[in-house]
Amino acid sequence: MLSIKNLHARVEEKTILKGLNLEVKPGEVHAIMGPNGAGKSTLGYVLSGRDGYEVESGSATLNGKDLLDLEAEERAHAGLFLAFQYPVEIPGVSNLEFLKAAVDANRAANGLEPLSSKELLKTAKEVCKEVDLPIAFLKRGVNEGFSGGEKKRNEIMQMMMLKPAMCILDETDSGLDIDALQVVAKGVNSQRSPERSFVVVTHYQRLLDFIKPDFVHVLADGKIVKSGGPELALELEKHGYAWLEEKSA
Ligand code: ADP
Ligand code: MG
Ligand code: MG
Repeated sequence: MLSIKNLHARVEEKTILKGLNLEVKPGEVHAIMGPNGAGKSTLGYVLSGRDGYEVESGSATLNGKDLLDLEAEERAHAGLFLAFQYPVEIPGVSNLEFLKAAVDANRAANGLEPLSSKELLKTAKEVCKEVDLPIAFLKRGVNEGFSGGEKKRNEIMQMMMLKPAMCILDETDSGLDIDALQVVAKGVNSQRSPERSFVVVTHYQRLLDFIKPDFVHVLADGKIVKSGGPELALELEKHGYAWLEEKSA
């Protein structure tokens, strides 16, 4: 599904990713943990093609397609979805208008007709219910004045509407209370399938009690320095990242 090889990337003049390798197979859930400033968000931005992030060397493919060669929009159409650590507000564009534009653009890129407004509204209402957002949120500006938790649930709603093959969730659990955390986890779990993969960036083992990962990786100083199963997250929770450095020293 997603194959990242020896990726080096910089933002401004600073190299942040320094030889990152990651292989995600269809249906797998990978958790990425790691200290602040390690490059976790940078990885998501580089993969999604955000302006200002420059690849120096290495490769990233999605189902064999060279992601780095595509425009940001084309990456989304190829099935890549990024839920941001800090979701952006788009005042003046309602959530429903945004969803319609995004869903229809994806469909068009895959040779499908636009969804009728009625169909879209019906699906959007169902998804609102699943992520525990009142349907009035469909009429509000995208993320405009939403609380932190509402923004995160809104990201999951977009994911459920777009049905991407490869979902990257960047600290979607940060700042959530336990109820909202469970809503987010439930949303993700309901979308798990043999054809869909997830990379979940988190600082907290707690999320992984609800979203069971197949693999856990530690990203430090721009590369994956350790990989393991869910037990790795428990060890990190207990000993902190300093423990890894001591072990490798
Ligand atoms: P993480 O998500 O792991 O906490 P980030 O990927 O957000 O880390 O940041 C990695 C490093 O890149 C940090 O040192 C951060 O200060 C730096 N960085 C991020 N964005 C920029 C930018 N626009 N200009 C310069 N440095 C940046
Ligand atoms: Mg951070
Ligand atoms: Mg980050």
